[in-house]
Amino acid sequence: MKNRLSHRLQNISYSQTLAMSSKARELKNKGYDIINLSLGEPNFYPPDFVLDAAKKAIDEGYHYYTPVSGYLELRETICKKFFRDNGLKYLPYQIVVSTGGKQSIMNVLLSLLNRNDEVIIPAPYWVSYYQMVKLCEASPVIIPTTMETNFKIHPKQLEEAITHQTKLFIFSTPCNPTGSVYSYEELKSLAEIFKKYPKIIILSDEIYEHICYEEKHTSIAIFPDIHNQVITLNGLSKAFSMTGWRIGYIGAPEWIAKSCDKIQGQITSCANSIAQRAAISALQASPMEIEYMINEFKKRRDLVLEMIKEINGFQISKPHGAFYVFPNVSDLFGKKFDGRVIQNSDDLSDFLLEKAQVATVSGSAFGDKDGLRISYASTENKIIEALTRIKKTLM
Ligand code: PLP
Repeated sequence: MKNRLSHRLQNISYSQTLAMSSKARELKNKGYDIINLSLGEPNFYPPDFVLDAAKKAIDEGYHYYTPVSGYLELRETICKKFFRDNGLKYLPYQIVVSTGGKQSIMNVLLSLLNRNDEVIIPAPYWVSYYQMVKLCEASPVIIPTTMETNFKIHPKQLEEAITHQTKLFIFSTPCNPTGSVYSYEELKSLAEIFKKYPKIIILSDEIYEHICYEEKHTSIAIFPDIHNQVITLNGLSKAFSMTGWRIGYIGAPEWIAKSCDKIQGQITSCANSIAQRAAISALQASPMEIEYMINEFKKRRDLVLEMIKEINGFQISKPHGAFYVFPNVSDLFGKKFDGRVIQNSDDLSDFLLEKAQVATVSGSAFGDKDGLRISYASTENKIIEALTRIKKTLM
């Protein structure tokens, strides 16, 4: 019956990150001592003031459909947050709150893409961009990057990738999976290129904005010449450790916000009402309230960098943000461990799950066959144990 599925669906794959996590969970349920470093999910509890706001929302009776784009009070709070943290001016009618950043992205893609439109995506990229673009029957155009440039694209590469069919550019800064962060100057030089192509829309995924260790995060929409070309995406999953609450949002030119509202109105009606009330309190709070989590992530990043240096065949550059490292593991390809030849990164990830009982994600999921993504959104003890096991397994 598989061929009864739409061509659209047959064209895409399962999320490899979620697949690895469910594999890890299954093994754990069977009694294996699995350490899961495959998930992009902080191990913290959401802040108390956010939980209190949700409880209050239940008591106060926020049980019903909200406006499609989100409560006005939340959209006003988001406008203030964009101005406070990013220097961006948006008005409430330019904001659409959705069921997670994932839905925000899909709303945008469904709004903009026609069959065969080209979408430029720097690799390594977040898994779902590529598959979502294919789900819209558009064509991903990949710009590869390497560790030598800290996985960032050069403006020349961007210009070379642009054609008459280019509709959209999608990237994340800080980046999942590499942790790279574009500086103000780097974004400015990309903005210079986009300025020459005013029909190209930029979807700037800033969901890791607060998890930035060296420099302050910059939003590409800050450059006035291209502000009207940019959709700024953010959400509560990562910064507030609220992955299950499913709140994402965009600030966008009015015509795009309106079309996202139109799509959402047909698909989900609105994001969860209680989570929206909690989001108001999360976004009204000063970023200082979540600094303890960022400091903890930074400590873990430094620990991971130290430990990874000692693992045979792992080469690494220092990530400046998010909570992932993305070592190049290609030195291990063709080598034999425990009687098994590691052919590629998929193989390595499977081998580590089997032998070290550590779940990671193969770089091929992110468009880079030489990499392996390791998340350090886990406890320090688990990270130490996992990396010690990997080191021993690859000796
Ligand atoms: N964008 C990036 C770069 C991510 O890593 C994720 C989650 O892993 C998302 C968007 C979507 O997050 P959510 O749908 O939980 O808001």
